Amino acid sequence: MSTEGSRRVEVYPDREVVVEFDPELTFECVDDCTWCCQHGVLLYDQDLLELAQRANLAETTTDFRGEKFVTREEKDRDEHVADDGCACAFLREDGLCSLHLEEDWKPTRCSVFPLGVWLEDGDLHVDIRDSAREHCEGLNVSERSVVDNLEAFLPEVLWDLENPDSDREL
Ligand code: SF4
Ligand code: SF4
Repeated sequence: MSTEGSRRVEVYPDREVVVEFDPELTFECVDDCTWCCQHGVLLYDQDLLELAQRANLAETTTDFRGEKFVTREEKDRDEHVADDGCACAFLREDGLCSLHLEEDWKPTRCSVFPLGVWLEDGDLHVDIRDSAREHCEGLNVSERSVVDNLEAFLPEVLWDLENPDSDREL
């Protein structure tokens, strides 16, 4: 829901977002955390097309409630896995993303985290995801302002999606 403190920020020309989080928020991903890579990642249609050029979709994606996600698979290791021993199919043993590393690309959702987006009254809104508040180690540990770097978190495709809602999880 919108709060009184929300404000509009133009991220791309004529592409605004309503920022719901504290504008003082900073973020820097913490090496070796990998929490967000241990859980399901929704793939938007555009992501599926991109991923199809880089990986075998039959092996790396799964259907859940009519939507596509990157597969979580059981890993033969103790690190960089969730409590059930699983993590994203692309999360390597060293905690790095093979897609990002080898293809210089990653799904939209992976860029957006620790933020979440949703549409409200025709506007794209953005806030910290509840799961990130609980698990992300990168919040407010650096000098890197989130509100001043929103293009790094919010790929432009988000403005074209019928339903960008981040509240869909595996
Ligand atoms: S695709 Fe890469 S960045 Fe995204 S969750 Fe999987 S390992 Fe992490
Ligand atoms: S949960 Fe946060 S700190 Fe951990 S890997 Fe994901 S973005 Fe980085």
